[in-house]
Amino acid sequence: MNAEIIAVGDEVVKGYTINTNASYIAKQLQTIGIMPDYHTVVRDQAAAIKAAINTAIVRSKYIIVTGGLGPTKDDLTKEAVCEALGLPLCIRVNVLEEIKAYFKEMNQIMPSINEKQAAFPEEAYILKNNYGTAPGCIIEYNEAIIILLPGPPYEMQPMLENEVIPYLKQKRAFYNETLDIKLFGLGESEVATQLQGMLGEFEWGSIATYVGEYEIIVRINVQSGSLEKAKEQLQQKKKEVEERLGSFIIGYNKDRLEEIIVRFLLKNKKP
Ligand code: ATP
Repeated sequence: MNAEIIAVGDEVVKGYTINTNASYIAKQLQTIGIMPDYHTVVRDQAAAIKAAINTAIVRSKYIIVTGGLGPTKDDLTKEAVCEALGLPLCIRVNVLEEIKAYFKEMNQIMPSINEKQAAFPEEAYILKNNYGTAPGCIIEYNEAIIILLPGPPYEMQPMLENEVIPYLKQKRAFYNETLDIKLFGLGESEVATQLQGMLGEFEWGSIATYVGEYEIIVRINVQSGSLEKAKEQLQQKKKEVEERLGSFIIGYNKDRLEEIIVRFLLKNKKP
């Protein structure tokens, strides 16, 4: 089962905030081989959040929710998610102390409305917020892993990268290897024609084409219970793509066009 990203927020639904969180999270998940299947966006309404969780829980293993962890009345995410899961919230004394300390560092006293940000279900693993007052959390619920993250990207991103990704990496029962092969001089449909029979999702992973800035990207993703096997399979698929499209390949992974051109010119310069 794959991942679902749920963005909570009236301003996201109404289009005033672009849902960059979903795009960022989706890309981060793929670095560890977790494929996003759904993006959902809901208003700051308990019923909408509960409905989104109830839908996600039956179709996705990894559910990442962003936004609505603030202290105000319209921040309902944690309460709604926990209600949907039937998990009661109670104040964690150590988390409350950390929030108070965060305010103290700014020479402020914590307003009482912030107290609710220290309330979590008993089974939650708390994600400390170093850049704001809203801690996130990870809840393992039956087969699913539900992760609540704050809305502001500068709070969400470090939490995701420093805590969530390592946590998920350690949980997953497989190794993931990815390679982007960059092509120039052929359109996407021609690339797809040349790769007939190789594109799609398979039990070992997937091969797909994407249109880049100037290039066509062939992305190979391999998953296996053994790292060695995953690496081996990736090399094999790479070779197969190279055999079919070799003369159009200009680079791999993060290679940029300007670097590729400089490398080409240096390699081919006349004495
Ligand atoms: P806060 O403690 O700041 O209230 P929060 O977890 O409650 O945090 P929200 O109130 O939902 O988060 O959003 C705060 C801000 O974060 C928004 O005004 C917006 O700038 C940004 N934000 C929220 N959701 C997204 C999103 N999906 N993509 C990008 N930015 C977002």
